[in-house]
Amino acid sequence: MNQHLRSEPVPFIDLAAQRRRLGKSVDEAVSRVLAHCQFINGPEVIQLESQLAAFSGARHVVTCASGTDALMMVLMAKGVGRGDAVLCPSFTFCATGEAVALTGATPVFVDVDEATFNMDVNSLKRGIATAIKLGLKPRAVIPVDLFGQSADHDAIGAIAEAEGMFVLDDAAQAFGASYKGRRLGTFGLVTATSFFPAKPLGCFGDGGAIFTDDAELAATLRSVRVHGQGSDKYDNVRLGLTGRLDTMQAAILIEKLKIFEDEIAARNKVAERYGRGLGNIVTVPHVASGGTSVWAQYTIRLPKGSDRDGFAATLKAQGIPTAIYYPKSMHQQTAYRDFPVADGGLPASERLSDDVISLPMHAYLDEPTQERVIKAVRGAFGA
Ligand SMILES: *Cc1c(COP(=O)(O)O)cnc(C)c1O
Repeated sequence: MNQHLRSEPVPFIDLAAQRRRLGKSVDEAVSRVLAHCQFINGPEVIQLESQLAAFSGARHVVTCASGTDALMMVLMAKGVGRGDAVLCPSFTFCATGEAVALTGATPVFVDVDEATFNMDVNSLKRGIATAIKLGLKPRAVIPVDLFGQSADHDAIGAIAEAEGMFVLDDAAQAFGASYKGRRLGTFGLVTATSFFPAKPLGCFGDGGAIFTDDAELAATLRSVRVHGQGSDKYDNVRLGLTGRLDTMQAAILIEKLKIFEDEIAARNKVAERYGRGLGNIVTVPHVASGGTSVWAQYTIRLPKGSDRDGFAATLKAQGIPTAIYYPKSMHQQTAYRDFPVADGGLPASERLSDDVISLPMHAYLDEPTQERVIKAVRGAFGA
């Protein structure tokens, strides 16, 4: 109760509040699955896919086991592999570049724009040149809609088209966001998202989905999802994996999708309040015109020379959790430091990794609790 009145710890993401709001609906949805026992490929999976298609505007939706599998399955379906370069931002969650490397292709890391945290199109152009210089064939680009905000899909799409590359949008953090009036899921050839519990639309386990208007690709993805099966169940026609979303998670997502629009609106209200309360103290996130955000994270930048660890400790002492996404960009991590980066280096990614920090963000962050967070951040800077 009234967490702002006591100085109880503020949750970073409040899944329990969402659970209370959903009431018995999730329990009943799970009970229905327990009753019909179709735990794999049950009716809820088909129903969810058609609801996600309606929500996003994409023609075909293929649900899958995780956001990482969503990326992986697309790259497998497109036959991306050794000798291919796939361009992706370095300032992202590691799964973006990991999926590329797992196929045997080479991730070529490009820089991001410091204002939006999303792919810098000039660095993308340099990255393509770098790939060609290395004797790699630029096959695809994976823009990431980081922290919930749409990347600049028109600019990226134009470059990809000119180079004969396909676009795989990593919307793991941004399902529900839009760009120029259209929901993500409809940009590039294909879009991947994640339903990990902490994502804006999360299930109660792992899950993901792939969106495309390309019927042939959708059919190939359905084959990859089940070990590359062909029309004869026992003659597998390609390599695949166990990539299915289970029925229980689909049933849960159907219930959560009903309140998702409302949650997106609530997250935007929270972001506006943060912007008003903190805009003159720290660098608050900037949503580029033409796009919207679903605020997977509310990520601020501390003023030059700030002690980030000290700042986090000051907030923690007041019961306010923070998180750093991401303290190391991909090209700075042990597993990825030998992969190429775009000519000119990735200075923006490196600066962001040094000065970003994320504040509690969810649809159930009430005003008094948020005031506590704002006061603590201002207090840390003597304001
Ligand atoms: C979470 C995330 C993924 C991977 O999703 P999982 O469901 O955890 O596998 C991929 N890309 C980005 C940008 C993510 O944030």
